[in-house]
Amino acid sequence: MDNLNENLQHINATIQTAAQKSGRSIEDITLITVTKTIDIPTIQNAVSLGTIHLGENKVQEFLSKYDSIPSDVHWHLIGHLQTNKVKYIIPKVKLIHSVDTEKLALEINRKSKECNSPTDILIQVNIAEEDTKYGISPEKVVPLLSAIGSLPYIHVKGLMTIAPYMENPEDNRIYFKQMYDLFIDISNKNMNNIHMEFLSMGMTNDYAIAIEEGSNMVRIGTGIFGSRIY
Ligand SMILES: *Cc1c(COP(=O)(O)O)cnc(C)c1O
Repeated sequence: MDNLNENLQHINATIQTAAQKSGRSIEDITLITVTKTIDIPTIQNAVSLGTIHLGENKVQEFLSKYDSIPSDVHWHLIGHLQTNKVKYIIPKVKLIHSVDTEKLALEINRKSKECNSPTDILIQVNIAEEDTKYGISPEKVVPLLSAIGSLPYIHVKGLMTIAPYMENPEDNRIYFKQMYDLFIDISNKNMNNIHMEFLSMGMTNDYAIAIEEGSNMVRIGTGIFGSRIY
């Protein structure tokens, strides 16, 4: 618990510094506490220390925790989402970060309509075009947005990326810049039903650099809870 508090304070201080470097303040940045592999009592401690946004990357694990955590937290689904699992998480999640196909968007729209509860989503972009990562290539983002912009029960709120793992996080600065440029380009297009509010990028290793380059939503696990034990 002490460690948790210290880690959170350290991260908030780093976020503040990085936000200032890019002309913003800590209030402009959303910290998502990534709770994958973390047990319920530890998550409850993090919540009691003021954590509001929690992120899980697997549907099963998210569902196993959902009922035990105070209902006023906001859950983020940050990992790859299979179409056949959408039905389990709507309307429980606040934001789905990992939409990368029209098929998935259609199913989120369908289930959200059934629940009469629109769902906020981000488009996951594979900015470094890595074979091992989900997400769509940057040039396919606008066509996807055109295809799904008219769906009434999804609200596109921005973009997400998982940058490559780099020994030196400075090496990701170029990818964060490219994401920010894409984010701004799309904003400027004023596309139907598309609102570029959130740019979700930056993890334990590189969140300061991501924020310096324009991220306003970071997803941090290890930096808060320590190394994960699988
Ligand atoms: C695990 C995970 C994170 C957090 O990673 P850390 O390096 O532990 O901060 C962020 N985003 C996604 C999609 C993840 O799966």
